[in-house]
Amino acid sequence: MTTLAQRYYEASLLEPRSVYPSFHGNIDYDICIVGGGFMGLHTALNLQERGLKVVLLEAQRIGYCASGRNGGHVILEFGGSQRNFETHLDLASAQQVLRLVHDAAEHLSERIARYNIDCDYKQGHIVAAITPKHVADLSAWQAHLAQNYGYQNQWITQDEIPQYIGSARYLVGALDKNGGHLHPIKLALGLAKAIAEGAGEVYENSPATKWNNEGNKVRVSSQNGAVICNQLMLSCNVGMENMHAKLAQMLAKRILPVGSWVIASAPLADE
Ligand SMILES: Cc1cc2nc3c(=O)[nH]c(=O)nc-3n(C[C@H](O)[C@H](O)[C@H](O)COP(=O)(O)OP(=O)(O)OC[C@H]3O[C@@H](n4cnc5c(N)ncnc54)[C@H](O)[C@@H]3O)c2cc1C
Repeated sequence: MTTLAQRYYEASLLEPRSVYPSFHGNIDYDICIVGGGFMGLHTALNLQERGLKVVLLEAQRIGYCASGRNGGHVILEFGGSQRNFETHLDLASAQQVLRLVHDAAEHLSERIARYNIDCDYKQGHIVAAITPKHVADLSAWQAHLAQNYGYQNQWITQDEIPQYIGSARYLVGALDKNGGHLHPIKLALGLAKAIAEGAGEVYENSPATKWNNEGNKVRVSSQNGAVICNQLMLSCNVGMENMHAKLAQMLAKRILPVGSWVIASAPLADE
């Protein structure tokens, strides 16, 4: 498996993280989830809440890939623009799409509260405008959101903006109180804990290497054993390429790794 660089979120964990064992044996479960990122963890918890016997196999550590390396922003829009959906769908369907994102954010807040996950979740997300053109675009988009989606963000004026972001550089901002920011690895670890403290099982350092159908069951092979399950859920993102299965190889060609880098330092001296 690829070894990825050390990251801020891992380094900023104040307490040692829980360690999960690696998978051994040949064991039956209802569902096998491959991948311990947000997709696998949330799905495992959803299914466990519905009474299914779930096992999650993670190749490395929980939150090792994108889910432990992202910005931690809870932004209530899809990447790109909602306008793309409006171009391809009627308004009612575009509204449903945006509703999905809002439901996800609500669900996330409920889940954090329900399982008492300490992930530094701070609610409030501001889109701030830095040029007069940005101001005009942001203002038009806020009016459009209110008129077509019934969704109203709070408009923050230039005088007010330093109270929120500690910078006077921006001209205005739109505050979405339902968005926010969290510590992504803490969230991932909290979800894993909720699974492991329930009826589910979580394994680390347990890459799934391939799967085969056996009658109406699926056999998922790992280094030291196999999971026999009724259903398999692949949530291994770019790791799909490491699985020896035709479908995984086909999917792997359609998933691209993406990176972005941020460097932060203590305040610099003048020199
Ligand atoms: C730089 C960057 C910034 C981002 N910022 C944000 C943001 O601010 N807000 C936001 O909402 N989203 C953000 N995203 C997107 C978000 O991080 C991803 O959509 C999300 O984490 C994907 O989760 P996942 O579970 O699908 O994949 P991953 O988190 O990549 O999880 C896949 C897991 O599968 C494991 N795995 C792989 N192969 C195997 C195998 N064979 N067997 C077992 N396990 C395996 C991996 O080790 C990994 O842990 C960002 C993404 C990137 C890359």
